[in-house]
Amino acid sequence: MVEETLIHSDQGRVRFQVTITGIVQGVGFRPFIHRLARSHHIVGSVYNFTGGVVIEAEGRAEDVDAFIRALPEEAPPIARIEDISVREVPFVEDSEFVIIPSRETPGGTILLSPDVATCADCTRELFDPADHRYRYPFINCTNCGPRFTIIESVPYDRPNTTMAPFTMCPQCQAEYEDINDRRYHAQPNACPVCGPQVELLCADESLGGAAAIRRATQLLVEGHTVAVKGLGGFHLACDACNEPAVRTLRERKGREEKSLAIMSASLEDIATYAELNDTGRELLVGPIRPIVLLKKASPIIAESVAPDSRYYGVMTPYTPLHHLLLDDERLLALVMTSGNLSEEPLATDNEEAQQRLGRIADAFLMHNRDIQVGCDDSVVRPTARGPIIMRRARGYVPFPVSTKKDLGRVLAVGAHLKNTFCLTDGPNAFLSQHIGDLDDAQTLDYFQWCIDHLQDVLRIEPELIAYDLHPDYLSTRYALRLAEERGLEAVGVQHHHAHIAACMVENGLQGPALGIACDGTGYGEDGCVWGCEILVAGYGNYQRLAHLDYVPLPGGAQAVREPWRMGAVYLARQGLLDEDIAFCRNLDQVQWRLLQQMIDKGINSPLASSAGRLFDAVAAVLGIRRVNVYEGQAAMMVEAVATTAEGTYDYNMCEENDLIIMEAGPMFTGIVADLQAGIDIGCIAARFHNTFVEMLAEAAARAARLTGLKQVAFSGGTFQNELVLTGLHQRLSEQGLEVFVHKQVPPNDGGLSLGQAVVAPERRK
Ligand code: ZN
Ligand code: ZN
Ligand code: FE
Repeated sequence: MVEETLIHSDQGRVRFQVTITGIVQGVGFRPFIHRLARSHHIVGSVYNFTGGVVIEAEGRAEDVDAFIRALPEEAPPIARIEDISVREVPFVEDSEFVIIPSRETPGGTILLSPDVATCADCTRELFDPADHRYRYPFINCTNCGPRFTIIESVPYDRPNTTMAPFTMCPQCQAEYEDINDRRYHAQPNACPVCGPQVELLCADESLGGAAAIRRATQLLVEGHTVAVKGLGGFHLACDACNEPAVRTLRERKGREEKSLAIMSASLEDIATYAELNDTGRELLVGPIRPIVLLKKASPIIAESVAPDSRYYGVMTPYTPLHHLLLDDERLLALVMTSGNLSEEPLATDNEEAQQRLGRIADAFLMHNRDIQVGCDDSVVRPTARGPIIMRRARGYVPFPVSTKKDLGRVLAVGAHLKNTFCLTDGPNAFLSQHIGDLDDAQTLDYFQWCIDHLQDVLRIEPELIAYDLHPDYLSTRYALRLAEERGLEAVGVQHHHAHIAACMVENGLQGPALGIACDGTGYGEDGCVWGCEILVAGYGNYQRLAHLDYVPLPGGAQAVREPWRMGAVYLARQGLLDEDIAFCRNLDQVQWRLLQQMIDKGINSPLASSAGRLFDAVAAVLGIRRVNVYEGQAAMMVEAVATTAEGTYDYNMCEENDLIIMEAGPMFTGIVADLQAGIDIGCIAARFHNTFVEMLAEAAARAARLTGLKQVAFSGGTFQNELVLTGLHQRLSEQGLEVFVHKQVPPNDGGLSLGQAVVAPERRK
């Protein structure tokens, strides 16, 4: 960083070389340096190199000092400075400050910018009738616009993007070359004369330009579904306040019950139906613009948008096309759900989209700028403990997590559900965008394509491969095959160890630390299904200290889909199956006897210590949910119904072979008694949460005493549950423990590849 005293030359003038790494290319950095240099009376030069920019700054010592100090403070809004290093160099006596051509240097880490939401300046021009780009749906500048999703290869120059086919008109070219222009070196720069164009296709007509957008808006107002091509893929849009329209979209898409994301033009519009807090506001209008989960505040939005949830997933326009589409008083909010059938990858190509979405959409609002890489909307939940990223994609990717460790070059392939993979280069861990569940061939192809593409654009050739221990994960099989083909070493990493390592490295912990990992499923080293674990973890290894008592999962995967099975398992163990509650009265006795035989004979009934299955059981017993339509549904609904009631149920804790066993069974005695006493299920759900938190807090306190460790990392999908997250955080803090949570990657399996990538090089040693 900046040295405190500068060595003066004879005339009191000095020359320094300043090297800045981070996202400083394609974000207006050199023009910024140029302006800053002039305002501080600095002469010299600036140029891009593979890993950043180099500045040679010469001037009076106090001017150079002020210039260097202003660099990080006044940098352009979307620049991300990783490091600044300064050294004195021989005096040259330049006469002016100039930008000199880029130099490619081998070996430097390449940092590419994520896509950036339309900036305030561009939005103003978009709606200014006097502007050359008035209502032009592809307006952008150095501070905003597409980046990651249009990059075909590096360096990031227009010919290496999907903007290559569009030749800039003289006016755009002049802006591109003018150092004082906001569009200086803006690679996607375009205008109505030379840039991409929209087209609306519906049954009997094809429209272009302003008419296309007007017609699309009209179709939406009339209750139709329109497929809209965005930055990283297609959305399916309809009027979010029109119940029949939303229901139709839902039915056609086959997305039975999951919440649908919505988009509104402004914070004022959002405030009419959702609770806005400061974090939410900041996220909604910042440069990333993820989907933000906000508590529902009024029933203006159609019931079918988010039937299971207390939250709406809300975003604001992040492309000019979105701004234009929503520029109509009749549209308070649009459903903007990803353009795919359930769980398939996003549609990105025009023809492919028409084929795949033809039965869902009544019309297609498309354009002729290709999407090189698909990228879903990111999802963030603001909580009392800061924002939790639940899906990390557009706006975040491919910005790296800086691990401050030398990881070398690792490819970590992630888990099976909510897959992301991770490529490392020294300290930088580049997580991929959310890929999805690797269940079908299409997603698996997309996964492999994305790995190849990210390797290409970041120029990272992995030397080590990390994978989950689960032998049946398709990601695991891919990793082992790739390792064999390329003659590389492959290292298996236990699921929950990876979860905890990810949280530790994000928070810069040295380890060992305590880790509390709670999720649905992770392959345990004893062959059981783990999912509610307290570990003592370093990066190279871990030891299991505590876990939820094992219960059988009758039918394996089927028990994950059918929470009622877990309800019956827990009640049977407590001898509660004959109690007079709705769950027991409705139990299919024949089916249950069959399951019991499976359990007794040990047929397809793996043992599990899973937090997810415990939540499932509670959901079933409370009559909230008997069958999961999507992963985690029942568990999410238990949180959604919970009130703020106080009180806890019993649980047990014992020690067996140096392991602390948390027995949740007794909770069900209390739950059944409350049900029989006619207590409201919201209150019971709250008490269950309180008990779950209390049980983990007690086990963590024991583990802390046993090990003398004070730092605790939380990870796993269960920490998306705000009651668990904030409740346990508070209890452990009261016990004098220091708690660390995820900030940059999701606590769910979307963050797993980061943990794999930091553990694998240590385990290899
Ligand atoms: Zn802009
Ligand atoms: Zn132009
Ligand atoms: Fe997990």
